[in-house]
Amino acid sequence: MNILIVEDEEKIARFVELELLHEGYQVQKTTSGREGLLLAEGGNFDLMILDVMLPELNGLEVLRRLRKTSQMPVIMLTARDAVMDKVSGLDAGADDYLTKPFAIEELLARIRVALKKRPSREEVKEEGALTFGALRMDVARRIVTYEKDTIELTFREFELLKILLENKNIVLSRDTLLEKVCGYDYVGETNVIDVYVRYLRTKIDDLYGIKMIQTVRCVGYVIRE
Ligand code: CA
Repeated sequence: MNILIVEDEEKIARFVELELLHEGYQVQKTTSGREGLLLAEGGNFDLMILDVMLPELNGLEVLRRLRKTSQMPVIMLTARDAVMDKVSGLDAGADDYLTKPFAIEELLARIRVALKKRPSREEVKEEGALTFGALRMDVARRIVTYEKDTIELTFREFELLKILLENKNIVLSRDTLLEKVCGYDYVGETNVIDVYVRYLRTKIDDLYGIKMIQTVRCVGYVIRE
């Protein structure tokens, strides 16, 4: 597994690099957002650790541009108490974020979760497509389309939609969804599922005038045919 670190604080970058190497990952690091974006777009990485506060091209901008072409897992590093950073990071398509200072064990745990959910390049299984009306999800190729449009989803938006489509007509609780989408050891905001549902509705329901994901009050969510 190949991990890209984009962090201008060299001490932190070096520390994370050493820990990742120790864990057996391959690592490349850069202090520049611009270079980080180019490297990530090159497609040879399985995951990116991206600092928000970077000179020139900041982390949010790097992520926004990357998401036009790539759904690789991205874990953002934000400054302490920078609530805006977290919200903007999720908006821009981050899969997870950590607030500095962070424990290296927590970063390692989140990396494992993010990588586990990502289909490995070697074992892309041939799975059938999941559908809802004109919406089609090609699970193996991780492509979602509505009629002829391609819908760009972040890693977790895709996972959430996949689970709902796989369990059509079954109401899934927020806890169940949280565990399946974020991993059982997830330790972030508990309303994160509501946030992702909102993103999915904005990208799909609102855009195409359909009502796909239904809220079941006090329970969770369901997609009904
Ligand atoms: Ca920084």
